[in-house]
Amino acid sequence: MDERQASNRTCIAVAALLCALLILVATTAGCSPAGSGGQGGSASASASGSASAAASNASSHPGGIASNPLSTPIEDKNASPDASSDAAALSSAASSAAGSGGKTGEGGANSSGSSSSSAAVPEQAPAKPRDIRSLPAGEVVTAQEIEAFGEDACFTVEEIDDAVFARMQGNSYGADCTVPREELRYIRVLHADAEGAIHVGELVMNVALAQEVCEIFRELYHAAYPIEKMHLVDDYGGDDNASMADNNTSSFNYRTVPGSSNLSKHAYGRAIDINPYYNPYVPNPSTIMPDGTWQYADRSWSWTYKIEEGDLCHRLFVEHGFTWGGYWGNPDYQHFAK
Ligand SMILES: [Zn+2]
Repeated sequence: MDERQASNRTCIAVAALLCALLILVATTAGCSPAGSGGQGGSASASASGSASAAASNASSHPGGIASNPLSTPIEDKNASPDASSDAAALSSAASSAAGSGGKTGEGGANSSGSSSSSAAVPEQAPAKPRDIRSLPAGEVVTAQEIEAFGEDACFTVEEIDDAVFARMQGNSYGADCTVPREELRYIRVLHADAEGAIHVGELVMNVALAQEVCEIFRELYHAAYPIEKMHLVDDYGGDDNASMADNNTSSFNYRTVPGSSNLSKHAYGRAIDINPYYNPYVPNPSTIMPDGTWQYADRSWSWTYKIEEGDLCHRLFVEHGFTWGGYWGNPDYQHFAK
């Protein structure tokens, strides 16, 4: 038994030595080709491959970079996909620079000279944003243009400059006007129509109300409360009937109350008529202003541009201390005054 055990032991020892040699040969032979290419396999092999593999790597790689068998595949793993993904990122950044440059307008011009122009071809070249501050009332503006100049620049209250005053004179501001120009302000806003298009709007109002009215319209704009048109009544020659018939929202007009010699609050810029075609004035049971709008004097049904008690427009003006003509015995549904 002892001899057998001894011979068995020597056999086992020899076998173990042979195995060790085989492993050594196998690993040293396998490393160099695998080291250059098959990192996927060597990552798992080296994880179980013990220190002997590390030692053999150290000796077989002159640079000694492979002394950390774990770091090699990880670095390589990172290196090769990163290299390709970096290249991909660069190319995609280049193409997106060309593409998104097209979106913002400004960058597009800079990158358009590059070779990536083919990527920009499918993109529609956008128009350069116009300066909203110089656009006339009624112009439809884009979200890009609003962003380019900032929303604050689209909601302004200014003194009546010579250009605006020239428009007013002989129209809303007749020769008999007793309201000093200095008591009026020119307001510019944005407003959404019922289709969601954003327009430039303008008003002349009393200096005492101008700022809060500007803020009210900013809230209405944010809520996309529909307002179809907002031009100075001067664009209608100061003719309130023409302005109402065109569903034009307006304020200042030095005039009397229809059928009376009393000055209207519009004469001081302290009243505003909103979406007037769809919110008519009924001064007596047989008259409606503007003409042909009797169906909108019946407030029992709903339609686009109707001012409803409790809707955002009504609520905001009432909250700011305005009275609504819709409550009058001879109702004026378009009219808010303060
Ligand atoms: Zn009015």
